[in-house]
Amino acid sequence: MTPQTETCQNCKQVFEITSDDEAFYKKIDVPAPTWCPECRLRRRQAFRSERALYKRECGLCHKIIITGYPPEMLTPVYCEKCWWSDRWGGEDFAMEYNTNVSFWDQLKELRAKTPRLSLNTSRNDNCPYANYTWLSKNCYLTGSTLHSESVMYSGNVDRSSFCLDSIAIGDSQFCYENVESEKNYKSTFLFRSQSCIDSHFLVDCRNCKDCFMSSNLRNKEYIFENKQLTKTEYKNLIAQYRLEKYSVQDELRKKFESIKKASVWKFTNLIKTTDSIGDNIVASKNIYRSFDVRDSENIRYSARVLITKDSMDINNVGPGCELFYECMNAGLNDGRYKFCVDCWDGCFDIEYCDLCMGCQNTFGCVGLKKKRYYILNKQYTKEEYESLIPKIVESMSVVPYIDSEKREYRYGEFFPMKFSPYPHNTSLSQEHFPMSKNETIEKGYFWKDQETRNYVISLDTIDIPDNIKDVSDSILKEVIGCAHVGKCNEQCTTAFKIVEEELAFYRRMNLPLPRLCPNCRHYERLKQRNPLKLWHRKCQCVGKTSENGVYANTSRHQHGDSPCPNEFETSYSPDRPEIVYCEQCYQAEVI
Ligand SMILES: [Zn+2]
Ligand SMILES: [Zn+2]
Ligand SMILES: [Zn+2]
Ligand SMILES: [Zn+2]
Repeated sequence: MTPQTETCQNCKQVFEITSDDEAFYKKIDVPAPTWCPECRLRRRQAFRSERALYKRECGLCHKIIITGYPPEMLTPVYCEKCWWSDRWGGEDFAMEYNTNVSFWDQLKELRAKTPRLSLNTSRNDNCPYANYTWLSKNCYLTGSTLHSESVMYSGNVDRSSFCLDSIAIGDSQFCYENVESEKNYKSTFLFRSQSCIDSHFLVDCRNCKDCFMSSNLRNKEYIFENKQLTKTEYKNLIAQYRLEKYSVQDELRKKFESIKKASVWKFTNLIKTTDSIGDNIVASKNIYRSFDVRDSENIRYSARVLITKDSMDINNVGPGCELFYECMNAGLNDGRYKFCVDCWDGCFDIEYCDLCMGCQNTFGCVGLKKKRYYILNKQYTKEEYESLIPKIVESMSVVPYIDSEKREYRYGEFFPMKFSPYPHNTSLSQEHFPMSKNETIEKGYFWKDQETRNYVISLDTIDIPDNIKDVSDSILKEVIGCAHVGKCNEQCTTAFKIVEEELAFYRRMNLPLPRLCPNCRHYERLKQRNPLKLWHRKCQCVGKTSENGVYANTSRHQHGDSPCPNEFETSYSPDRPEIVYCEQCYQAEVI
């Protein structure tokens, strides 16, 4: 059966609605979407800002708090203690559903006045500067971190401890600058590598110990630049490398980048995963056009999903969720969500809800805790609720919300992007799909210029000791200027401090101090990652070598001397330098 096609309301590109998509829409009783999968993803991502933090007064106890909400958002913000207390409740802001006014406008009004939680976090111990961090302890300036301890300056981290400056990692300890890697220990600068110990600068390696500046290794020890050494040779050679010096690390980083370009890459990074299309998927099955998925099943068009099943169009969802559709930052053992943001703690059967916790059968509610049968924060009987919902659903389609770009939002759409409380340029959407200031404003989204910071820089990067061994504790008092001096487009904070736990980590791991602020470091790592997009491409193996001639095959492939005919969906765009092979050709080379 040929899939149905639609034209995206937002980007005007044609997109497919497959029969599996249709079956899901039918199962959960929603109309087909009018935005393409990528625009839907970007729309959800506009509702999350992981890195920008502001000081603000709690609307209830008036203490100064750290929050992810910018001062431009006029909605009151409560500190964690006040928000969860019974000194107030979302029901205090209840609105009577008015049949003469668009439901969308009523929901917008309710969202504008109901107090928000300072940080979108849950069940942490001592993580006051880590937004979107859950079930974690002693984490600092890190986002999307779950079940972790002492993780700093990182993102998309699960079940890890003592890791710094890493992204998309799981089950790792004592790691630094790890990207898209799993189950590593005491290792630095690993890229798409798993189960490695005491190793540095590895690309696509598995189960290695004491390996250095190498690629495509399996079950190896004492490998230096892809050459086998004896234990003594290896130890002597590594001892000569002064890894504790920044000047040395800087050179090695450059070499590492060139190794990535000469390595053979499997078209996708699927680990212990079956029947799936996407990238960075671990221990999952039946995942379709999704990214950064772990321990999940039957997920479509999604990104950053943990232990969740039977869901579509979800971002930053899990653990323990099922039957979610069009949700962002939601779920902690929850089910049957449609069009929700920032809800968790065992909610079921909720729609168009925002910041609701442990609720059931709530529609268009904001900031409610443990309530049942509520609409616009007002309580109804079960019977009233069930008869009113179909009328509201119909009215949402009859009187759509129309934004300044003439995009129409009916029942079945996620919240309009303009409903986001965050500046678009600090949102996750900007991290993954950057837009210029002009384009952002033209599209009608909120752009917030970097606030002028009056930091008195006490130490320039050139004055930081090259060797970590020459750094004294007095560094903790310094305000260090970021080497980007705010000139980049990466939320550069222009200055940064080194905190005590961080210094202890560098010393223990024998690593020099960084020269960039945490945001600039984050963007440097993001550049190493592929975009959340897929391209249909052909295997680049042409028989004896790669198409660009850079890589010579070491074994004879099934397709002999002629080019491999296999095609696939990959997040490596056609203009990238990496050599991308199909599963069979890759397996023939990397055993
Ligand atoms: Zn689109
Ligand atoms: Zn910076
Ligand atoms: Zn091939
Ligand atoms: Zn081949």
